[in-house]
Amino acid sequence: MIEVPVNGGLTGIVRVALDVPIHTLFDYMADEPVAPGQRVVVPLGRRQMIGVVMESVATSDLPHGRIKKVLRVLDDSEPLSAGLLELLKFCSDYYHYPIGPTVISALPTRLRSDKPLAVRRDIRYRLIRDEADSLPRRKSVARRIVEKLAAHPCSLAQIRALSATAGAQLKWLEQEGWVGQCEMSGELPAPPVQLVNAHSLTMEQQQAVDAVTQSSNFGCFLLHGITGSGKTEVYVHLMHCMLQPCPELGRMGGGQILLLVPEINLTPQLEGYFHSRFPDVPLVSLHSGLSENQRLDHWQQAQTGYARIVLGTRLSVFAELPRLSLIIVDEEHDSSFKQQDGLRYSARDVAVFRASQVGIPIVLGSATPSLESYHNAQIGRYRLLKLSGRAKADARLPEVSCININQSVMTEGVSEKLMREIVLRISRGEQSLLFINRRGYAPVLMCTECGWLSDCRNCAGKMVLHLADRKLRCHHCGLQISMPASCPSCGHAGLHPVGSGTQRVESLLRARFPDARILRVDRDSTRSKRSWQKMREQIHANEVDILVGTQMLAKGHDFPELTLVGVLGADSALYSADFRASEKLFAQLMQVAGRAGRADKAGCVLIQTAFPDHPLFRCLERHDFDEWATLLLAERRMAGFPPFVFQAMLRAEGKNENDVYAYLGKARAAAIELQREVEVFGVVPASLARRANHVRAQLLIQAGSRKILQQFLRDWRIDEIPAPRLHCSLDIDPLEF
Ligand code: ADP
Ligand code: ZN
Ligand code: ZN
Repeated sequence: MIEVPVNGGLTGIVRVALDVPIHTLFDYMADEPVAPGQRVVVPLGRRQMIGVVMESVATSDLPHGRIKKVLRVLDDSEPLSAGLLELLKFCSDYYHYPIGPTVISALPTRLRSDKPLAVRRDIRYRLIRDEADSLPRRKSVARRIVEKLAAHPCSLAQIRALSATAGAQLKWLEQEGWVGQCEMSGELPAPPVQLVNAHSLTMEQQQAVDAVTQSSNFGCFLLHGITGSGKTEVYVHLMHCMLQPCPELGRMGGGQILLLVPEINLTPQLEGYFHSRFPDVPLVSLHSGLSENQRLDHWQQAQTGYARIVLGTRLSVFAELPRLSLIIVDEEHDSSFKQQDGLRYSARDVAVFRASQVGIPIVLGSATPSLESYHNAQIGRYRLLKLSGRAKADARLPEVSCININQSVMTEGVSEKLMREIVLRISRGEQSLLFINRRGYAPVLMCTECGWLSDCRNCAGKMVLHLADRKLRCHHCGLQISMPASCPSCGHAGLHPVGSGTQRVESLLRARFPDARILRVDRDSTRSKRSWQKMREQIHANEVDILVGTQMLAKGHDFPELTLVGVLGADSALYSADFRASEKLFAQLMQVAGRAGRADKAGCVLIQTAFPDHPLFRCLERHDFDEWATLLLAERRMAGFPPFVFQAMLRAEGKNENDVYAYLGKARAAAIELQREVEVFGVVPASLARRANHVRAQLLIQAGSRKILQQFLRDWRIDEIPAPRLHCSLDIDPLEF
């Protein structure tokens, strides 16, 4: 088939990506000119669908008379760029996910419908009278607006960010003739970008900045530095540099920065932070918490090149960024960068591809890099940049040690030693944090008479006891029942909660320290949007003595009064079936340890464990990530696990066990028949073998190189294996087992 390159817009046969789970594009006839990347409305069967034109071709496999017509060309949004279309094609190929859903799901929801978009007029406000001093004294917000506009014109959103009343004050300023509107195209005059409060960098920081800015082309850098070592300061300096115009590289107006962060409700905080460092630079966020209209607006601000910094969770890796000059992935090891349904992409890996596609540097930052990235740095594929100390001269590393639970007096899972340390903190007016990665009261309820356990009737898991509202809840399928008063099996009244969750630790502490102010932070206590924000303020105001919480507390917060961290229930990860569990545990503990003693107060971390001599804890006590990573990598190499092999996981789930296993059995037979250099494992139950009454099983394929694996996957043709009544998915580079 001959392809006709299309630049401007052609009529003729166009190939369209539609949200249909088939690995193909759909051919249509366009009567009016349409460019690749443009959204169109087309008929499919009896329906009408929104699609994106991928290319224009001279001939079609369909007989001429059967090619239907494009019904409408939606021209109220700019066409997707060739670069983005290429990126999406790459993702569809690499993740073996149909091109149509890949393209459509990358769009903001508003662009997936044909509802007319409000024509985006880039209204900015500009200053007419620059005499802030002659404003009435009491008009402090108006004064701030005038001061801001004196620097350069701003959007309504930027002005609103100043204060809750800024919108009203702006109206007043407009009426009084201080401020006028002007229309802006994407190309704003680039103001010399101002960086506020820049620290003079340490030598290591400077070396890191230099290494990245001197790379005029693609390069992947792994910035490895413990919490508090000054990674954020390195990001900020790099951003400052890459925002400036760079005529040699054709960036006359200055670059755009994509900063990817994990999905942890931190974006508003981070937005405030980066805004305070770059007050003149238009910055938008992209994450799933935005309304559809906000997301479209932010997406378009990035697309026009107006937003210069895009701060986003994994989905923002597909944002249009015409002047992209640098990508930063913060906490690159975080598993939330991997999407767990639909297009199962790793935003970190896609970001690396994108940087190479555009020819720009990318920085992956972490205190505990993923073994994949660490290995890549060791073999020279990535360049390692190391920050080995804490940036502030007076900041000390926390002291980490273990409490052997087999040799300690314990009360409901908490050792007396830890209790004594808490008492000490309370007496000093300092905060303690008890970290336990399990919410609820107890993970299971048991009958002491007959051994009955609170199994979920829909899943292979246990129902968790939530004592506050006397419920048993399944965290897998959401099933919820009242807590039985007596054993459902034998009628015995002695039901016993086994193990601990956050609620149990909380109630134990309340009984022990009735006067202490105790705050529990987990998914249950922070359901509403505002509650977590409020809790954070309480912690900062030192209105809390003891915090009990899950990993929500471990990430990215700076609690200056926190000097003690106790870790409970860590051991389960040591003998988990998931080979990544100990890698995750180490990262989590390192992160939570980083919470202790950030200010000038020394911190102390006490880990309760039955295995105080385990290398994981030994390395943690010495803050030695390198030794830990070396150990794990040696283990992975011996066992033939990633990053030394490349994996794909075929999963199937359905109501009928026979269907599930028959399908995977056929897929397995087809895989073996191909006789490739891949290892085809047996069909096994998933780690949660039944969820919401669906049987779940999986088949793992492994190869020594990406290339061999990809070639195998292309030839495997699993789409041709019938999968009646099943939900199947192929996961490339899976993280969950
Ligand atoms: P990380 O992102 O690695 O956790 P940050 O960049 O947040 O570290 O830095 C930790 C603390 O050290 C912050 O309070 C920051 O202001 C400070 N800091 C960073 N770099 C320097 C520097 N070069 N000199 C002095 N203080 C610094
Ligand atoms: Zn019983
Ligand atoms: Zn369940």
